[in-house]
Amino acid sequence: MNNEMKALVKAHAREGLWLQTAPVPEIGPDDVLIRVNKTGICGTDIHIWNWDAWAAGTVPVPMITGHEFAGQIVETGRNVEGLEIGQRCSGEGHLIGKTSRQSRAGKFHLDPATRGIGVNEQGAFAQYLRLPAFNVVPLPDEISDDIGAILDPLGNAVHTALSFDLIGEDVLITGAGPIGIMAAAVARHVGARHVVITDVNPDRLALAERVADVVPVNVAQEDLGNVIARLKMRQGFDVGLEMSGNQAALDQMIEAMTMGGRIAMLGIPPGKSPVDWSRIVFKAITIKGVYGREIFETWYKMIAMLENGLDVSGVITHRFKADEFEAGFAAMKSGSSGKVVLDWT
Ligand code: ZN
Repeated sequence: MNNEMKALVKAHAREGLWLQTAPVPEIGPDDVLIRVNKTGICGTDIHIWNWDAWAAGTVPVPMITGHEFAGQIVETGRNVEGLEIGQRCSGEGHLIGKTSRQSRAGKFHLDPATRGIGVNEQGAFAQYLRLPAFNVVPLPDEISDDIGAILDPLGNAVHTALSFDLIGEDVLITGAGPIGIMAAAVARHVGARHVVITDVNPDRLALAERVADVVPVNVAQEDLGNVIARLKMRQGFDVGLEMSGNQAALDQMIEAMTMGGRIAMLGIPPGKSPVDWSRIVFKAITIKGVYGREIFETWYKMIAMLENGLDVSGVITHRFKADEFEAGFAAMKSGSSGKVVLDWT
């Protein structure tokens, strides 16, 4: 193996990313080296590209970005057991500690000392990635590298959607970005009755309708009260999945929930966000914040559902060679794309 590789680097503390040559990472005894085949561009990567206040305060420079990937193990550390060279894999990009109360209770996704690849540690937008063997998730043959590269955001969708029992329930999803659309597909797959997805972007609503069997609603044109009547729902939605981080969307969701409804929130509001708490109290609504994926229960569930017919492949709308990353980021920034996948082979 040549010990240099191509990598997409946050090389300067300003807008942009730069495709550079970097040393292939050296692995420790508990790590594996993965040859990266495909990667997905995430909203997080757009923040890092734009170098907004969050990115500037979080990401040290230089940093290889990216955390959504699929590839193949090419080297294993001397302590690594149960993984083989040549094995196809994706992996959890959150590197967790093992000493916190949460980790020791097996709730790895709640470890306060979590570090993220592509954010705090060198990332996956490269030909090779070092990852602790603990974080590796082997891919069955039926799951392609394209889907393997979007298991991280699909995991966000699955974690959010499975926060509450959806069987026979009426589900409202606010925000038809890729994660909202994939959550809609999951909600249908597990047996929800009505699944309504809202947005104000017609391209995203059209994509949602193509990918999942959902009712798309443009809330710039139709009121959710109207939709509740049109679908002959009794009172309102039983479960809400907030995926937009948009203040108006959260307000509409709380208005449209039934008594005792349950809301899982993955969308991140831009700042402090005023909410009519009296509505939440008098409707006896339960709200759950969702972060990342449950390690590794979400991974288990999503791979099992993919093996059992869950199809989210339509959410990938653009594919580019890694050298064409600028076009990939432009597609993401257009606001109308689904997932954008980069090819590193
Ligand atoms: Zn991501």
